[in-house]
Amino acid sequence: MKLFNISTFKNYTIFFWLVFISIIAIFFSSVYNSSKSEKSKLLKSSLDNIYFKKTLKEITNNLNPRFSTLVYISKAGDTYQSIINGLKLNKSEKNIILNHVLKEKSLKILRINQKFTFKFDNLLNQKVTEFKIETGKKNEIIFVKAVDQNIFRSKKIKKNFKKKLVYKETVITNSLYNSAIDLGINPNIILEFARLYGFQVDFQRDIWKNDSFQIIYEEFINENKVIVDTGEIIFASLNLQNTDLQLYKYEYEKNKIDYFDENGKSIKKTLMKTPINGARLSSSFGKRKHPILGYTKMHLGTDFAAPTGTPIMASGDGKVTKAGWCGGGGNCVKIKHNSKYQTVYAHMSKFGRGIKKGVRVKQGQIIGYVGSTGLSTGPHLHYEVIENGRKINSQKLKLPSGKTLKGEQRKQFEVSKIKIDVLKSNLISKIN
Ligand SMILES: [Zn+2]
Repeated sequence: MKLFNISTFKNYTIFFWLVFISIIAIFFSSVYNSSKSEKSKLLKSSLDNIYFKKTLKEITNNLNPRFSTLVYISKAGDTYQSIINGLKLNKSEKNIILNHVLKEKSLKILRINQKFTFKFDNLLNQKVTEFKIETGKKNEIIFVKAVDQNIFRSKKIKKNFKKKLVYKETVITNSLYNSAIDLGINPNIILEFARLYGFQVDFQRDIWKNDSFQIIYEEFINENKVIVDTGEIIFASLNLQNTDLQLYKYEYEKNKIDYFDENGKSIKKTLMKTPINGARLSSSFGKRKHPILGYTKMHLGTDFAAPTGTPIMASGDGKVTKAGWCGGGGNCVKIKHNSKYQTVYAHMSKFGRGIKKGVRVKQGQIIGYVGSTGLSTGPHLHYEVIENGRKINSQKLKLPSGKTLKGEQRKQFEVSKIKIDVLKSNLISKIN
C-alpha cells in the first residue's frame, strides 16, 4: 500500500488554506454589498441590545477622567441653592459649598449670566476641589479646598483678559456718533472721546460733513475672544475743516494721567481770568453806574484798563464767531470755546492777524489790541464770559487749570508721544 508521504501532506495543507481564504473573501464581499439601510438596521439592533448597552456604559464609565470641569451660566429664577443642588454631589458636600457661597459678601446678589466653574476630582468622596464664581466683568472669586479638609478658602481674583489696542479712523458722514457706531466703536469710548474734546469742540456745531477722526483705545478680550470691556483712549485726532486737534494720553506723575496736545499742553483747559498782560482791573462784574450812559446798570463783564495797543489773548481754545463792530462794544471778538462757554472782548483798537469769523484760535493767541472803540471813556478791555448763554463773573470762574508740561516731564512726554506715533503707524499698517 502506498502511504502519504510528507510532501503530499504539505500539498493538502495549501489546498485547505486556499479554500478557507476564498470562503472568507466571499463572506466579506457579501456583507459589503448589503444595502446601507440593512447595515444601519444591524447597527441599531446591536445598540438596542441591553447587554451591549450595559457594556458601553461600563466602557464610558471606565473612560471618565479623574478630573472634570463643569461650567454653568446662571439664568433667571436661579438661586445659589438651585444651582448647587443641580450638581451630582452628595448632600453634605452640597451644603458645604452652599454655606461658603452664602457667607461671601461679594456674592450677595446672584445675577443672570453669572458664570460658575466647578472642578471635580471624581475619585474623591467629596468631589469638588475648586470652584469659581464671577463677581463682575473683570473679577471673580475662587474657592479652593484646603488639603484634607472640607473647607474652602476664597480669594478674589482678576479674570484673565487680554488687552488689545484698537485703531479706528473714519470720515464723518452724518454725525460723529453714528460714524463711530458704524465703525464698531463701543459707546463708552465715544462718550469719553466727546468728553475729552468737550473743552475745545462744540459737537453740535463744529463737526462738519467730511471732517474725520482717528482713535486708538484699549479693548479687553476674554478667552472666547469676546470683547468684555473697553479701557482708555490712548490717542485721538479730530480733523475739523483742516485743523488737527490731537490728544495723547500721558502719565505725568505716578498714577496721574491726563491728555495733552502735541505741544504738551493739557487738553483740560480753563478760561483765563485775565486774557491780557500788565492790565489793571478797573471795573468788576456787577451793579454800577455806567460811566457814559450815567444810570445804574448791571455790568455784565470785567474791565481791564491798559494802554492802547496792549495785546489781548484768546482766553481759551475755540472758534471765532464774531470779529467786527458790536455797537457799544466797538470792535469786538466773540469766541465759542465749547458747547458751554463763550467769551467776548470789546473796545479793541484793532483785530489780531487773521482773526475773523470761523477761524479756530488757541488759548493765549493774540486776537486783538486794547482800544477805546464804541461806548468807552478810555482804553480798556471789556471781557465777558458766557456760561450756557448767561453772562457770568469771569473772576469767579472755577475750572481745572490747564497744565503745560515742562522740563523733565516734557522730555518724557516727547518720548511717550513718539512711542504712541510708532504704535499708530504699526496699527495702521495692519489695517492696510
Ligand atoms: Zn465793561
